[in-house]
Amino acid sequence: MVNEVVYCPRLFALEYLHGEWADTADTEDGRRVHRNVDKESEASLPDPEEDEERPVVRRSVMLGDPDLGVIGRLDLVEAEGNRAVPVDYKRGRAPDIPHNAWPPERVQVCCQGLLLRAHGYECDHGVLYFAGSRRRVEVRFDDELIEQTHAAIAEARRIVEAGTLPPPLVDSPRCKGCSLVGICLPDEHNLLAGRTERVRPLVPPRDDALPLYVRLQGGSLGKKGDEIVIRERREEIGRVRIEDTSRVAILGNVSVTTPLLQTLARRDIPVSFHTSGGWHVGTFVPNWGHNVQTRIAQHRAAADPERALALARAFIESKIRNGRVILRRNGEPGADRLQRLKELADEARDAESLDSLRGVEGVAARVYFEALPTMIRTELRDRFEFSGRNRRPPKDPVNALLSFAYACLARELTVTCMSIGMDAYVGFLHQPRPGRAALALDLMEELRPVVADSVVIGAINNGEVQPDDFIERHTGVALTDAGRRRFIQAFERRMDTLATHPVLGTRLSMRRILEVQARLLGKVVLGELPTYPQYRIR
Ligand code: SF4
Repeated sequence: MVNEVVYCPRLFALEYLHGEWADTADTEDGRRVHRNVDKESEASLPDPEEDEERPVVRRSVMLGDPDLGVIGRLDLVEAEGNRAVPVDYKRGRAPDIPHNAWPPERVQVCCQGLLLRAHGYECDHGVLYFAGSRRRVEVRFDDELIEQTHAAIAEARRIVEAGTLPPPLVDSPRCKGCSLVGICLPDEHNLLAGRTERVRPLVPPRDDALPLYVRLQGGSLGKKGDEIVIRERREEIGRVRIEDTSRVAILGNVSVTTPLLQTLARRDIPVSFHTSGGWHVGTFVPNWGHNVQTRIAQHRAAADPERALALARAFIESKIRNGRVILRRNGEPGADRLQRLKELADEARDAESLDSLRGVEGVAARVYFEALPTMIRTELRDRFEFSGRNRRPPKDPVNALLSFAYACLARELTVTCMSIGMDAYVGFLHQPRPGRAALALDLMEELRPVVADSVVIGAINNGEVQPDDFIERHTGVALTDAGRRRFIQAFERRMDTLATHPVLGTRLSMRRILEVQARLLGKVVLGELPTYPQYRIR
């Protein structure tokens, strides 16, 4: 990891302190290149004190030295007598720059040379083998490079002892090639910290991979090669490439084989389980061992009444303002209601306690839902009558849709929070209760009108859901299977829609926006950013 310190101290800290890792095409290619040299040789390196002059090659050699303070696995060592040469494998081609190698690569192989010296070998140079151009580049261990290597080791130790993340590089071209750019969000972070004025489009606006929903009573999911195989009563009915899958949502009684679960875990693909009606039962999130520092910071912030209140105010203020904008754009709420919502948003911003904030939120919800029917097309209003919010169980189709949409959004945010290593069950506004994803519910507040309510109104107005898509039971109103399927499609379309982030100014899919908001909240609890950047539409 010494090379990471040279590339970017924050990259080193994210990987070493927070355990962050992101697979990219480059890292997968790197793994492929290392496949041969990662097989450890059975014989160890010859003793440098013995008179063994025969040249030997050893793969995947583990060496450590307490004085140097470094442990490393060397891809390959070529030894002859007491002389040894470390060979470090690199993907790609040797760069056409002075030394034909980048500084982090030179420092890394020099560090390996210093380890060999510490074990008694003479070692005055190393080799970088570039698999893309099949070229060996010799790296001489001169005084300057050795000094750089010691400085990098000292810097790594300083970062580990400090235990905090160094700030992101500012406007650096290195971020473009960094595998953690989507986690670090360097420009977004620097913009909010006042260190830059623009956010470069460093991450794709949306994931190429899509969620896979499976709703088959008695069905099963297995794995064949790089594909997920979907079976219904042992009959194969479909296949999906694993690399095209961002997450798997299982509705109802569908079994998943262990080989598939293991592959999904290795690729960091979460699997959420739901009842056949779509209610979230639990989530399998791989690799939750990373990001412990953020969870500790989150728990501390949640236990601090002032910090918790500041965050809760931000969530509710922007929820009210976003609801007001949605009503203004799509309905006829009337000037008085808009004015009242504006006042309530100001009151939420200035609330002095969580209790008073909840009071403001309750009044704002009543005002908002009173005007919600004005967003439904006039000719549909008698078929989709709505006279206020009710739930558990919902008593009419609009409430059934709203409840289902909020459940979908809560599920998305629960998985998002857990995937980025935050504790979905510890919130700031929503108090902890067994089984309640309080953080997901907090983050959801400002997005309810923008995502969930918009999908509901859109699905009604464009005829995607019809009155016969609901079943009325004595317990309440619920969507039919067909209605639920169509609503999930509408919800997924919304999640995939690109929108301009009001603070960052970049175009992102709604799904990516959920992740960005959760990551920015992570930076706030870690103390890297002073305030939570609200997602407020205009
Ligand atoms: S994105 Fe840039 S600042 Fe962040 S870790 Fe990578 S190189 Fe460093």
